[in-house]
Amino acid sequence: MSGIQRQSRFEQGDDVVVMKFGGTSVEDAAAIRRLIGIVEDRRGAQPVIVVSALARVTDQLLESGNAAANGHLGSALATVRKIYVRHEELADSLVDGSAYGSLDRALRTEFQALESLLHDLENSREFDLRVQDRLLGFGECFSSKLVAEALFEAGISAAYVDARLCIATDARHGQASPLWGLTNQRIQETLMPLLESGCIPVLGGFIASTVEGVPTTLGRGGSDFSAAIVGAALGAARVEIWTDVDGVMTTDPKICPEARVIPKMSFDEAADLAQFGAKVLHPATLAPAMRENIPVYVLNSRRPNGSGTEITARARGDKPVSAITAKRNVAAVEIESARGIDSNLLDAVFAAFERHHCSVDVMATSPGRMSLLVASTAALPKIAEDLCGLADVRWENHRALVCLVGENIRHKPEVASKVFAAVSDIDVHMLCQGPSDRTISFLVEESKVEEAVERLHHLFFPKSEPGRDWGGISAAYCQAG
Ligand code: ADP
Ligand code: ASP
Ligand code: MG
Repeated sequence: MSGIQRQSRFEQGDDVVVMKFGGTSVEDAAAIRRLIGIVEDRRGAQPVIVVSALARVTDQLLESGNAAANGHLGSALATVRKIYVRHEELADSLVDGSAYGSLDRALRTEFQALESLLHDLENSREFDLRVQDRLLGFGECFSSKLVAEALFEAGISAAYVDARLCIATDARHGQASPLWGLTNQRIQETLMPLLESGCIPVLGGFIASTVEGVPTTLGRGGSDFSAAIVGAALGAARVEIWTDVDGVMTTDPKICPEARVIPKMSFDEAADLAQFGAKVLHPATLAPAMRENIPVYVLNSRRPNGSGTEITARARGDKPVSAITAKRNVAAVEIESARGIDSNLLDAVFAAFERHHCSVDVMATSPGRMSLLVASTAALPKIAEDLCGLADVRWENHRALVCLVGENIRHKPEVASKVFAAVSDIDVHMLCQGPSDRTISFLVEESKVEEAVERLHHLFFPKSEPGRDWGGISAAYCQAG
């Protein structure tokens, strides 16, 4: 049952569809024209559009922030100038007349604010996560204004909505979490009247703000999460993630071109896949959809007629396994008690990781010893300092976690034995079962991850036997980085 109160004519059965378009799906005029065509096809429903920044813009903004903070203001300004020109050219080719004039003014004003932020950064040299959130948010502000105007120009009643006024978060900059009650209320109050008047709201993904109005972001790739947050607040009939691949695939097609689309997955499987690094979905995306039981579709904006991947509460029949994944850029942390078996160690370790906002991907414990995997080593020196005297903390970078995901995978011992036979000549460092019943994972040197994933993909998805299903294994995945 939904915990959200809705009072409007959309209360029941209304066909709100939240459509999120990623960076490559808005990267140029051709992509935005495709977006317009896809939205036109949904006009019978009630679309809400969420867009990412244009492809590569977030990285360029980050680069300009680093340059300014290191005293290279000229290079920082040159980078944002390129971003500005790119948006202006798009505005020019997609929007005409007076609408162009007001879009041009809006973009100009935003770019002036961006330039002034870079000047401040050059003076202060303090590029902390709070400033970073403010800076990176410009990308989604530009793209959402541009797309709203382009839709309007195409004869679709669309309106730009500032997502920062809709999604309220805590102040954990760089990876903020929604304040659900306030967020649901704001989304409903802002978007319902627009929907009721037949207007399509267009929001930037990824961006939000604290209750005090300080800009935050939901973490890299967070526009998927924004779409799910909006979908859950509106009780949408579906959330569509429009991207540059045909759906969630058996592995990253950039690694294995023979990767295949997975037509259907359960929320749990998809959440595990994302958690273990699947770039195609931000890891937090599935939770709100699951809570409100809203199906999520992953679709290709370059081939909009494909059926993509449908993610719902229904598991895929009785098959115990559905995916193999891998995640790069992880560090393996070894924590050894300084006092032998110590019942307080676990609590102290959790508290230290929590205090320094270091999230743990996988953990294995034995008396007096813990092995953890983390995605970032930034906080580890401070954690080691906090635990000094209690435990010795060591870590190694450049590891990758290869992971099998699937319903009840752990109750299929033959799957694990086949996997380990296939990679027996690759140095496997750490073996983990869990955290759910749906994953088995192992750690390899990062340089070996592609080889491991390719071998597993060939093993479970042999080209000559396209229909074959190895005990239900239906996907291999490796994060592109
Ligand atoms: P967007 O900009 O649309 O959000 P992303 O780059 O974040 O797109 O995610 C799509 C990319 O995810 C694909 O281009 C693909 O390389 C990568 N990817 C990694 N693993 C998978 C997988 N299992 N299925 C599909 N795509 C994957
Ligand atoms: N533009 C942001 C990023 O590149 C968010 C997103 O694309 O989802 O991380
Ligand atoms: Mg993405």
